[in-house]
Amino acid sequence: MRQTLDECWILLPGRETGYGSIAIENGRIAAVELATPPYPADVKHPRLVMPGLVNCHCHSPMTLVRGFGGGLPLQRWLEEAIFPVEAKMTDEDVRAGAVWGAIEMLSGGTTCVADMYEGDYANAFLELGMRARVCIPGRSNAPGRLDECIAGTRDWNRRMRETAKGDVYMDVCVHSEYLTDEAFCRGLAAANRELGRRLHVHVSETRREHEDCIRRHGKTPIAYLAGTGLLDNGGYAAHCVWCTDDDFRIMAEHDVALVHNPTSNMKLGSGFARVARAMELGVNVALGTDGPASNDNLDMFEEMHLASLVHKGLANDPTVLSPWDVIEMATVNGARALGIGDAGEIAVGRLADLCVVDLDKPHLLPAIDIPNLVVHSMHSSDVAMTIAGGRVAYDRSRAGAEFDGAATGLGEAKAKFLAAVRRLGL
Ligand SMILES: [Zn+2]
Repeated sequence: MRQTLDECWILLPGRETGYGSIAIENGRIAAVELATPPYPADVKHPRLVMPGLVNCHCHSPMTLVRGFGGGLPLQRWLEEAIFPVEAKMTDEDVRAGAVWGAIEMLSGGTTCVADMYEGDYANAFLELGMRARVCIPGRSNAPGRLDECIAGTRDWNRRMRETAKGDVYMDVCVHSEYLTDEAFCRGLAAANRELGRRLHVHVSETRREHEDCIRRHGKTPIAYLAGTGLLDNGGYAAHCVWCTDDDFRIMAEHDVALVHNPTSNMKLGSGFARVARAMELGVNVALGTDGPASNDNLDMFEEMHLASLVHKGLANDPTVLSPWDVIEMATVNGARALGIGDAGEIAVGRLADLCVVDLDKPHLLPAIDIPNLVVHSMHSSDVAMTIAGGRVAYDRSRAGAEFDGAATGLGEAKAKFLAAVRRLGL
């Protein structure tokens, strides 16, 4: 069925803004028709259609522990606050948290996520019609874990290919250099020659992690991972706060994207990834929220805003990261990082993953410079509708039935989520 979005501002590829209509058919963009300027000066209900946002690093079930253990340094936060609660989580809890995270993301214009977590949570994204790249985080601390990661990844992807129910595939993953040994990394790299997936990994998030790796292996985390063969099929590395120029060169050469998580890095006092330098050296830079326990929301508009401001402030230079640079980090660069080349842009033939923003708000008028408005004025709560794969996944105008059509209704999802929070004693 063909549907159209008429009379809207549109963010187009090539850093252009247009005004016109978009037609959607069979999950893809079938037509983009642009009006000739001058555009109408006084549109009654001004709205913007932009590519759906791509959150390239998340742990969505951690909605369950949102804000828990705040104020502790990273290692203590993990070991004293987060890991003990996670040890108590059942599959049901994890799934309730993931559904709630997917609902939060869709209601804020995010159509695609790269998620890393233990347990049975991938179905949450299928249920809500969200595009996702999930993974089983490889750690070396349990016997048989490598075989479990390989078999789990292979089986899920085979099932997805056979049922074609949605676009939720499993990538390969090691949680980090510090939670995985070399035999595990080499074993997963060997299996990935057949699995053919991209790598999701945490890299050089804190100075301590980066320097400990050099002490252990005589190499930075990126150089070490490259040496195990794990970067051979490309991937996306979260944080990269302490990466060197040589690390960036390795990432560019192996098509490993840097996933910038400014909120999480600031909240945990980890530092500031040198994203402008990474871009200069040819690294694809994308954006992520990280988990809601270190953020404490999954708002990609907030992430764009911070990414823009932080690097201008650090460099004493307002020309660092233009609004279009930042929008591309949150859209087309993210899609490329996850290997979904036909998402992230509004053009004929591309996947119809779209975010529709209501511009008729006090803080969004006048809409003179739309890219600037997106990065510096917009909030996730301005999103009126989110379309994922051509299907309306969220529609704010249908209050109470915003997620109608998903297997999980909003009320039921909330009840399950809050029950899980209570069960965990939070
Ligand atoms: Zn993370």
